[in-house]
Amino acid sequence: MRMVAGQSINVTWRFIRTLLAGGMALALVGCTGLYQQQVPDSSGLQSAGLAVSVQVSTSKAPLWLQQAVEEEYPQTVSLRHYLHQHPELGNQEYATQAYIADFLRAQGIEVVKGTAHAPTAVIGILNPGKGNAIGLRADIDALPIKENTGLDYASKAKGMFFGKEADVSHMCGHDAHMAMLLSAARIMAQHREAIPRSVIFVFQPAEEGDSLENPYDRAVPKLSGARALVEDGVLERYGIKQMFGIHVMARQPAGKLLIASGPALNSVDAFRIRINGRQAHGAMPWSGVDATLTAAALVQNLQQIVSRNIDLTRGMGVITVGRLQAGSTSNVMAGSAELEGTIRSNDPEIRKVLLRRIPEVAEHTALAAGANAQTRILEIYPVTINDPGLAGSLVGALQSFGLEAEQSDWNPGASEDFSFFAQQVPSVFMFLGVDAPGAVNTANNHSDKFVISDEALKAGVSAHLCAALGQW
Ligand SMILES: [Zn+2]
Ligand SMILES: [Zn+2]
Repeated sequence: MRMVAGQSINVTWRFIRTLLAGGMALALVGCTGLYQQQVPDSSGLQSAGLAVSVQVSTSKAPLWLQQAVEEEYPQTVSLRHYLHQHPELGNQEYATQAYIADFLRAQGIEVVKGTAHAPTAVIGILNPGKGNAIGLRADIDALPIKENTGLDYASKAKGMFFGKEADVSHMCGHDAHMAMLLSAARIMAQHREAIPRSVIFVFQPAEEGDSLENPYDRAVPKLSGARALVEDGVLERYGIKQMFGIHVMARQPAGKLLIASGPALNSVDAFRIRINGRQAHGAMPWSGVDATLTAAALVQNLQQIVSRNIDLTRGMGVITVGRLQAGSTSNVMAGSAELEGTIRSNDPEIRKVLLRRIPEVAEHTALAAGANAQTRILEIYPVTINDPGLAGSLVGALQSFGLEAEQSDWNPGASEDFSFFAQQVPSVFMFLGVDAPGAVNTANNHSDKFVISDEALKAGVSAHLCAALGQW
């Protein structure tokens, strides 16, 4: 049985209280902190009570920090549940922005609301004079999904998605990201003298993309939240030297932190291809150019890009045609067809090949059939690449805080605009497991049944604090 971090901290606190109650406070005088050590998976010590407590008393996490995370926990949970019930879509997060800004101001943290291209962002600045700033990032937008978890705090919210009413919910877990960073900010503000540097809290909108306009309807798509903040100069303005972010993930135990060294998440891009043939009677195909047949050939040929054009020793690539539309009735040969798809890779060079080859293959497949093809590519997010040195140091620091953290090459397959920060400064994007103990085959992020075990939030709060206190 794996021991989650929250339980580990609880055990430690029970031990400390026992010591204090037993008049052993003097034993701790002179210690700069409580020392705690990870209990091995298969130690069998979990049920041994005091034996675990003695073992875990070797952590380097400051005493005030563990106490603060525990004391803050009920508020972390209520912050998340509130935000969960008040989700807003990308670039419309005005109520969320106001909530975050008010919360940070109440802690005595300097607040800036919005930048030129990210009007709903919130930047919080702690210890502005100390320098050596790090950025801690939480994304704040929700998804156009009808929540189907059955939770008593499930979202019933509605919003507008590309001009149409939609159900809205935090089925990617950004409510947890906000709650963890807000709680970490409150703790840091209460102990600001113990934080050795400036800390910039970056609450960014529209990680899931803009919800106001379909990007295909714009000649130049809007920037995502992270890219907008990068291009608006946030990293330079606040002198951010490193960026850290956390994403909650289903299918990993609550409280477990997984940190990749190098590529952590894939790039994502999208395409729309229109094939123009010539409509004809279905009984006389020789008198037209069949767009349906051309589209079918193109779906096949696109798959050959991955299998025949990319260097698979470097990494992987995915091309998926998710939508194919052609024709109107059975006895008319379609004169046009439209395909839309998604493109993923965990390697920037492979990504370049995919983006170059898709329009070429579309054009030549269409020409072979006597049709023509127009391809529109939307370049969305680059590969998210963790700085290997910083990732390794962070894993060690998290473990010394008593958190269950490990270096991992687990790539969940998704994509993130955190990648834009990571292109600019050394950065680490952590995954935080959120499955309740014993849960199996849980619904993934973006499912209408995605749920988060609140117990996981403590590890996220602690990880932010660890990042702020680390010697990077
Ligand atoms: Zn998402
Ligand atoms: Zn997300």
